[in-house]
Amino acid sequence: MNYDVIVIGSGAAGMMSAITASMNGNKVLLLEKLSKVGSKLKATGGGRCNLTNTLSNEDFVERFGRDGRFMRDALHLFDYKNLMQFFEDIGVKTHAPDGYRVFPISHQSTTIITALEEKMHSLGVDVRCSENVEEIDCTKESIKSISTKENRYIAPNIIIATGGLGYPTLGATGDGYKFASSVGHSIKELSPAMMPLHVKESWVANCRADTIPKAQITVNIPKHKKLKASGDLIFTKNGIRGPVVLDFARELTPLLKKYGEVPLYVNLINGKNEEDIRLHVKNNNDKNILEIMAILLPESIVTSFLNECKIEPTCKYKEIDGIKRDALIKMMVKTPLTVIGHDGFKMAMITRGGVNLKEINPKTMQSKLVKGLYFCGEVVDLDGPCGGYNLQWSFSSGYLAGLLKIYP
Ligand SMILES: Cc1cc2nc3c(=O)[nH]c(=O)nc-3n(C[C@H](O)[C@H](O)[C@H](O)COP(=O)(O)OP(=O)(O)OC[C@H]3O[C@@H](n4cnc5c(N)ncnc54)[C@H](O)[C@@H]3O)c2cc1C
Repeated sequence: MNYDVIVIGSGAAGMMSAITASMNGNKVLLLEKLSKVGSKLKATGGGRCNLTNTLSNEDFVERFGRDGRFMRDALHLFDYKNLMQFFEDIGVKTHAPDGYRVFPISHQSTTIITALEEKMHSLGVDVRCSENVEEIDCTKESIKSISTKENRYIAPNIIIATGGLGYPTLGATGDGYKFASSVGHSIKELSPAMMPLHVKESWVANCRADTIPKAQITVNIPKHKKLKASGDLIFTKNGIRGPVVLDFARELTPLLKKYGEVPLYVNLINGKNEEDIRLHVKNNNDKNILEIMAILLPESIVTSFLNECKIEPTCKYKEIDGIKRDALIKMMVKTPLTVIGHDGFKMAMITRGGVNLKEINPKTMQSKLVKGLYFCGEVVDLDGPCGGYNLQWSFSSGYLAGLLKIYP
């Protein structure tokens, strides 16, 4: 059977592009290599799916860094308001409980996937799962066909929506980069982003699952002292995770490559300084040291700090040796942690790098090298922070690619 367009990949970008193309009267085939559509989408937001956020387009674009400008056309046509309206139209109510991050009201990503699937079904999109695209056959002038293990499909347009390299169990194995390079596109260096980090300090294992709101992280390398971030941090058995860590990870990976390890200072007590701690101690001097510090931090963390500073938890502050007191207070306000690695793409929510933006027309998402070839979603060289940015980009670029615009 012949189609007007073949979409490769059934993530947010692929499904949105298939729906848009179909709504515009095109015969659409969507090929997905896994047995179900939307596997990564299902895992997003811890299964709650943080679809987007309510930032203005200008602020949104800024959070992607300099290359964010590339997104302007896609966002202009399809921003968070359009996305929320789109879901409302297909029966999914969404909301922003904190006024910023948008979720389906059900707080279940499956609601989103079911609605997208039903919409594709009602439009007559031919969705074929367990079809792994292996090759694209095209010239500069036209697309000829694409091949899976068993089948060959023909269409004048192809939309590559194959995602990145993170969480390979959810389908992302980088095939899109392979297809893009096979037709002459260059790929910006790929590296894992948004992943938990491993640290050298073994005491973190005792603080597993402790969540610290508004932790402030600073890189402790003289040349990179400006690198800072703040937000919620969670200890794991061998390191740290949580929104602030996920976002900061992409800044740290190049430093890890360069230095082998990256020393950090973390303020876990809402920006309090040494003077604040001394005052706090003074105001609570009837208690033992563990009780005093446990007002500021979870007990497991304080116990670890006391242990590191060789201080007996039941001691009164005045009974502690001066050097040890200073060491403890320093540790409270500037907790040293040394990042030594991460799990790579296995646990990376996002891939940094991708198909070179210079070779894609931002007004259409069409390849500048091959007529009829479009890209959308994470396969493209753009990555945003935590908070609905990456899904909004996938939906916006999927929408634009699905219009199959030819420009100029
Ligand atoms: C655990 C986790 C949580 C996340 N949470 C959020 C969040 O809450 N908010 C947010 O904005 N972002 C979140 N992200 C990031 C976001 O999920 C991605 O940026 C987004 O899903 C990318 O969408 P996509 O359509 O480009 O790619 P994907 O969703 O990865 O879809 C690509 C699809 O293509 C298929 N495919 C690949 N190769 C082939 C082939 N050769 N043939 C056929 N099919 C193929 C894959 O199987 C896959 O289904 C999260 C990511 C992870 C891993």
